[in-house]
This record gives sequence, structure tokens and C-alpha cells, in this order.
Amino acid sequence: MRGLKKLYEAEDLENVAEDLVFEQIDALVNDGNTKFCRCKVCLQDMAAIVLNRVPALYSCSILEKNSPGDDFSARIEEVRKRISEELPVAMDMVRRNNNH
Ligand SMILES: [Zn+2]
Repeated sequence: MRGLKKLYEAEDLENVAEDLVFEQIDALVNDGNTKFCRCKVCLQDMAAIVLNRVPALYSCSILEKNSPGDDFSARIEEVRKRISEELPVAMDMVRRNNNH
């Protein structure tokens, strides 16, 4: 898969929702009041659960990602809001299933 993405020179194609999820995970990781496992496996599980539940937000260029127009900015805000609703649910799911 990765090889084909490279073949088509699509490296700039990126789901911006991934950045938005890690932005919020990072805030939680640095918030000493929230108790949850901060290991790489649990954090990636949380990210995957959230990303499967919010719409993808694809961008084709660094420029669009860094200086989004009005329409893309509005979609970023909408996805950011959805992520903030889904993240606590994902955290609970990971907490319940974690065996370490
Ligand atoms: Zn863990």
C-alpha cells in the first residue's frame, strides 16, 4: 500500500483528522488530572478508535493544510468538535480492554 502511494507521488495526501486527534491526545497526556495509560499501544488504540468514528479530512498539499480556506477551516472545526466528543469514549474503551 505504502509503495503504491509513493509510486503515485501521493505523499502529500494526508488525513488532517490524524493531526487533530493527536493534538487532543497530547493535551490529555499532559493533563495530570486525567488518569489513563499513556503507553504507545494505548494511545494508538485511542487514536484508531476515534479516527474510525469521525469523518476523514483529506488535504492534498501542505499549503492547504497550513493555510486552509474558509470551507476547509469550517470542516476542521467540525471534525475537531467530533473528536472531542469521541475521545473520552475511546479512552473508556481502551481502559476497559487494557490488560497491563
Ligand atoms: Zn497502555
